[in-house]
Amino acid sequence: MEYWEQYLGLFLKEEDLEMARVVRSFVEKEIMPVRHLIDDDKDHTLIRKILQGLTNLGLQKAPFPKAYGGSEMNSIVTASVLHEELSRGDSGICTAANVTTWAWLPAIIAGNKAVLDAFAPSFCGDELKMACFAMTEPGGPHGGGGCDIENPSLHGKKIRTIARLDGNEWVINGQKMWASNSGVADLYCVLCTEDPELGEDGVALIYVPAGVNGLSFGKWEKKAGMEADVNCAMYLEDVRVPKEFRAAGPRKDFELLEYNIILARVLTAASAIGNAQATFETVLEYTGQRIVADKPIRDHSIAAGMLADMAIAIETARTYYLLTAYMLDHPEKYGPPTSNYIRSRASIAKVYAADVAVMVTNKAMELMGAYGYARDYHVEKYWRDSKIIQLWEGGAQLGRFDVCRGYYECNL
Ligand SMILES: Cc1cc2nc3c(=O)[nH]c(=O)nc-3n(C[C@H](O)[C@H](O)[C@H](O)COP(=O)(O)OP(=O)(O)OC[C@H]3O[C@@H](n4cnc5c(N)ncnc54)[C@H](O)[C@@H]3O)c2cc1C
Repeated sequence: MEYWEQYLGLFLKEEDLEMARVVRSFVEKEIMPVRHLIDDDKDHTLIRKILQGLTNLGLQKAPFPKAYGGSEMNSIVTASVLHEELSRGDSGICTAANVTTWAWLPAIIAGNKAVLDAFAPSFCGDELKMACFAMTEPGGPHGGGGCDIENPSLHGKKIRTIARLDGNEWVINGQKMWASNSGVADLYCVLCTEDPELGEDGVALIYVPAGVNGLSFGKWEKKAGMEADVNCAMYLEDVRVPKEFRAAGPRKDFELLEYNIILARVLTAASAIGNAQATFETVLEYTGQRIVADKPIRDHSIAAGMLADMAIAIETARTYYLLTAYMLDHPEKYGPPTSNYIRSRASIAKVYAADVAVMVTNKAMELMGAYGYARDYHVEKYWRDSKIIQLWEGGAQLGRFDVCRGYYECNL
């Protein structure tokens, strides 16, 4: 916990430390004692109880304008601290809770009155509500889907969810895949195109409430980890919503999409380090107690070297994601948040932090032997949860192309 204090006056303010303390206390009380039960909570009774607890803390309403009952929390540094602390408990819970804010951001940033008037009051209430940012699509026989949707070199031309204006309504047809909170959300921000040939100008972010005619879902996907995050196929067949439910309009929606992609890179870097930090705490303690060849594991030089590598990786990854969060918070100094410069830095933060989390959880398991692999010490859980952070949001390869875009014209 004291590691946050070293950033005070640099990237962090006193209110960020307070956020860390509040979330740490919630995690210690509400998540740590039950984290071994989360993966088996198939009907999500426990998961929803924890998410309701976060709603009670005020997390759900935090990003909304005060006029709707929110608290206008818009610091990316603060959000990063929240992501790391919550993921130290469970990164699936962190994802399920924070994707709601992610899905809402285009409407909040654009100040879309129709969407805010219709749905913000319930999200600013005391009851748990969820939102979903549905971007990814399945691939077809000729490719597309997956990473092609968010690859900036493809300019939105691979999107196959089509929105057609019919009088005062959008009519949406298409299919989405994998989006967090799909099937359980109350509101969906759906990435569409008016016409793939229009490229970036055709991109439309349209809000669709749960329960509308023509919206249906597949089964919950079974995954290696992150049980709290529900993912399934989403089908849109002649779904109709008012034309005002488009986030901002041509071109602006593309900018909002790019902002969300870049922002998510930074915030999931923080989540990855939450997993790594929790694992590091466990392995430090375990290797201090378990005696092999007459001394604690961590007093053998081969183990000390591995623990040092973990500490180096966690500290540098944390410092770098905080720097990029600070950059996003200060466009007056670092330029627009959707520039290739910022995209590149955000991608460095995410690619590196995810690799660190996978390395730390993997090496911790080695140092703990069978007990690292067993469920009792949770290391295997953080290992499973870390892997998907490497794979999502464009995966490790597209992430690296996005790093290159900050250094030269890279059209991969
Ligand atoms: C738990 C979970 C939560 C998710 N949450 C969301 C969400 O909230 N919203 C949402 O919209 N989506 C979400 N996703 C989807 C996720 O973002 C995608 O899975 C991801 O972007 C990669 O797509 P894909 O899995 O289809 O991989 P593919 O596109 O099939 O990629 C496979 C491999 O090819 C690489 N690759 C991609 N492009 C290139 C290229 N041009 N050249 C060379 N290699 C390339 C990739 O890096 C990867 O290694 C989630 C997925 C999971 C599993």
